[in-house]
Amino acid sequence: MASEWELVVGLEVHAHLKTRTKMFCRCALEYGAAENTHTCPVCLAHPGALPVPNGRAIEMTILLGLALDCEIAGHAVFARKNYFYPDLPKGYQISQYEEPLCGVGRFLLPTAGGDREIGIVRAHLEEDAAKTVHAGGATGRSVGADYSLVDFNRGGTPLLEIVSAPDLRSAEEAVWFLRLLRQTIVDVGISDADMEKGTLRADVNVSVRRVGEEGFRPRWEIKNMNSFRFIGRAIEAAFRQQVEAHEAGEDVAQSTYDYDPDTDRLTVHRSKEEADDYRYFPEPDLVPVEPPAELVERLRGEVPERPGDRIRRIEPSVGFERAVELVMTGWDLDFDRLVAAGAPPAGTANVLMNDFVAAEVQPGAVNVEFVKVMAQRESLPREVWNNAVAASTSSTFLAAPFLAQTAVSDESELEPIIDAVLAANPGQVETFRGGKEGVLGFFVGQVMRETQGKADPKVVNRLLRERLRG
Ligand code: ZN
Ligand code: MN
Repeated sequence: MASEWELVVGLEVHAHLKTRTKMFCRCALEYGAAENTHTCPVCLAHPGALPVPNGRAIEMTILLGLALDCEIAGHAVFARKNYFYPDLPKGYQISQYEEPLCGVGRFLLPTAGGDREIGIVRAHLEEDAAKTVHAGGATGRSVGADYSLVDFNRGGTPLLEIVSAPDLRSAEEAVWFLRLLRQTIVDVGISDADMEKGTLRADVNVSVRRVGEEGFRPRWEIKNMNSFRFIGRAIEAAFRQQVEAHEAGEDVAQSTYDYDPDTDRLTVHRSKEEADDYRYFPEPDLVPVEPPAELVERLRGEVPERPGDRIRRIEPSVGFERAVELVMTGWDLDFDRLVAAGAPPAGTANVLMNDFVAAEVQPGAVNVEFVKVMAQRESLPREVWNNAVAASTSSTFLAAPFLAQTAVSDESELEPIIDAVLAANPGQVETFRGGKEGVLGFFVGQVMRETQGKADPKVVNRLLRERLRG
């Protein structure tokens, strides 16, 4: 029997950098501004207009390169990537080709089953094209549209491109990698990386091969995906279609494909350009970028702890799933703050993900004084605990008034009350002893009423059972 097929996936991820101005001119970047209000001779490609690189965008690219353990180039070169499209008035995109800012790196991908390491091939800096809007027709695409308009506000937005090695082996793993890479980009503070707004897009390269086979078969490129769910489904569809084609002995050519969520199938978009088609050459209007060593060292100091490392660090005390939830919400920073102030780790994770979410409490605003209440949670009546949670974000929050309402768990204090309740309800006592233990709740309710809700229900339950069985 022929061996099984395995999936081979690599990603090319584009993220808009959140600089104040565009990559090669001083036009402001503003998402959602009125069309064609942020343009100038440079980003409209007027003849003779010269590009000036945005220094902050270069720093941001190096920052991310450091977070991905990339080699930072001492000498990087901008290159022209030539192609025609109405949203590209220069007739070329300024990108980086043979000498990118960030070279080979690696990415820690923690999973419930252990660590995976995903290779990073490169990360480089380029500019985005303008935005074409197709109007009329049913599909919103150029085919069948009545007319098309171009909004040049986006043209020249600094764009970071990250290329992964083809190291991903399942749709689930590819989506998890992309989510964690997105979190890294966000945490480094260089982009909102929001797929819905188009500030994060991914091209997905998919091929298949027999398990144990050396090398790679031709791949399909699925361009400009902007939904985690559809990326996962498109990868699975590509796997099915390629295996089918290989087994039928059909030719599987390297091409660009579109994914249609309605049919759950990929259809060929166009045959893939080779790099030759772009006629890359060094951008003659820009000098090479040579980041000084001191700059790189300063930026190295600004790289925050990476999400994969954070998951691994807190996992032992809260479990893998909880660690992922905390890191992907960014609440692990609040978790760290509360645990450092003495709160128990597992309990803190639960309070963050359950109680704070239910009460719509922003974890970042929680006063560390609240830790004292967390430590006594078991002995606080439910209502007192809820009130403390609701008040926890106050800068003047004090634990003492809540702790003063600690549940009564002192047996010598509770026993006389329990005896009085039992003596007052002989009929119910008979019912319990006759086997209907559900009546226990009645007695608990009576004791809670007698103590104005301050009795510890666990102790009350235990004492009642002892008395009733005795
Ligand atoms: Zn401009
Ligand atoms: Mn690109």
